[in-house]
Amino acid sequence: MLSLENTENAFANRSDKELKKAHFVFKVLAVSWLNAIGTKLTMIALNLRLPVKSLIKWTVFDHFCGGETIDGCNPRVKSLYQYKVGTILDYSVEGDQNEKAYENCLTQLLEGLKLAEKEEAIPFCVVKLTGLIPFDILEKLDAKKKLTEKQQQAFERGKNRVHQIASAAKTANTPFMIDAEESWIQNTIDAIVFDLMLEFNKEKALIYNTAQMYRHDRLQYIKDLFAHSEENKIHIGLKIVRGAYMEKERERAKDKGYPSPIQVDKAATDRDYDLALAFCAEHHDTIAICCGTHNEASSLLLTELMKQRGISKENNYFYFAQLLGMSDHISYNLSKEGYNVAKYVPYGPVKEVMPYLIRRANENTSVAGQTGRELSLIRKELKRRSL
Ligand SMILES: Cc1cc2nc3c(=O)[nH]c(=O)nc-3n(C[C@H](O)[C@H](O)[C@H](O)COP(=O)(O)OP(=O)(O)OC[C@H]3O[C@@H](n4cnc5c(N)ncnc54)[C@H](O)[C@@H]3O)c2cc1C
Repeated sequence: MLSLENTENAFANRSDKELKKAHFVFKVLAVSWLNAIGTKLTMIALNLRLPVKSLIKWTVFDHFCGGETIDGCNPRVKSLYQYKVGTILDYSVEGDQNEKAYENCLTQLLEGLKLAEKEEAIPFCVVKLTGLIPFDILEKLDAKKKLTEKQQQAFERGKNRVHQIASAAKTANTPFMIDAEESWIQNTIDAIVFDLMLEFNKEKALIYNTAQMYRHDRLQYIKDLFAHSEENKIHIGLKIVRGAYMEKERERAKDKGYPSPIQVDKAATDRDYDLALAFCAEHHDTIAICCGTHNEASSLLLTELMKQRGISKENNYFYFAQLLGMSDHISYNLSKEGYNVAKYVPYGPVKEVMPYLIRRANENTSVAGQTGRELSLIRKELKRRSL
C-alpha cells in the first residue's frame, strides 16, 4: 500500500530555511495560550496600525497564504506545480457584506479564471456563495420566509454574479467549486448549485457542490443528487469534506432547540466520509470528486477504491486537495505517485485574510492531532537533513 510518510517528498519544495520557519510557526500555534493571546493582540495591533504586518507576513501569512493578490501568488503557483501540485486560488477576504465587496469578489474570481484558462497549474476555481450573496437573504430563503422586494432584487444580483462565474468557468474550461457553509443556509446553496449543474454539467462535471460529511444527512443527499442527475442526464461534481463549523452548528441547534445536524461522534463522520468516497467511486462515469481532506486514512482509501474500480490516477474526475501549508505529506506523496492533487491557496490583503488565518490557528490547536502531526513530520525531515 502507498505510504504518505515520506518526508523527503513531502517537504521537497522547502529549503532548509523555510523548513525551520515552518517548524517555528507550528511550534507557536501548538501553544494554545500563546495562540489565543497572539491572535487577539495581532488584531488589536492591526487595527491600531502598529507595524506588525511584516511579522505576520513573514510567518503565518507566508505559511498559509499564496500572496496579497493573484499576481502575488504566481511564485507559489509555480513552485507547487514543479511537483505537479495544482493551485486552487481562494480569495479569502471575509466579513464585509455589501455590494462593493460582492462585486470585488466577482472581479477576483473572473480574473482567476482568466489565469486558469492559460495556466494548467490551476485546475479549479472556488467560491463561498456568501462572498457573492448576502448571508441574511440565504438564511431567510432557507427558513422559507418571503423576501422583501429589495431583498429579492439583491438576491437576483447575487445569483447573476454566480452565473457569470459559471459562464466564465465554462469559457475557461475550468471546473468551479462552491464551498459548503452553515447548515441554515445550505439548502438554498444546494438549490442554486443544482440549477447551475442542470445548465452547465450536461457533457461533463463543470460545477461542483460540497458535501460536509459531519452532517448525518449528507450521504443521503449525495445519493439523492445522483438520482436527480440520472433523471436529468447530467454529470455531478462534488467536493467531499468533513465540515468546518461543528461547534457553531451544535451550539445553534442547542440554543434554538432543534436536533443537531451533526453526527453523534467522529467515528460516524469518518464512516460516512468513506462511504461517500465509495459511492462516488462506484459511479465514477458521471460523478467527479475532489477529496478535500487532511485525513490520511481517507486519502489512502480513495487510492484503493480507484485501483479496485480500474480508475486511472490521472482521471480528472478524481482530485485530492489540501490547504496550503498543511498536510504536505499527503499532497506531495500522492502527486509523486501520479495522482491529481491541488492545494487551496488563500490570498488577499494581510489584514483582510486575518479571519482565515485565525481559523487556521484555532484549528491547529483544536483539531486533535493536527499540529502534533505537522510538527512531528517537520521534525522528522529536519533530522533527516541533519538540521
Ligand atoms: C481542500 C479543502 C476544502 C475544504 N472546503 C470546505 C468547505 O467547503 N466547507 C467546510 O465546511 N469545510 C471545508 N474544509 C474543511 C474541512 O471540512 C475540515 O474541517 C478539515 O479538513 C478537517 O477535516 P479532515 O477531513 O481534514 O480531517 P480529520 O482531522 O480526520 O477530521 C476532523 C473533522 O472531523 C469532524 N469531527 C471532529 N470531531 C467530531 C465529532 N466529535 N463528531 C462529529 N464529527 C467530528 C469535523 O468535521 C472536523 O473538522 C475543506 C478542507 C480542505 C482540505
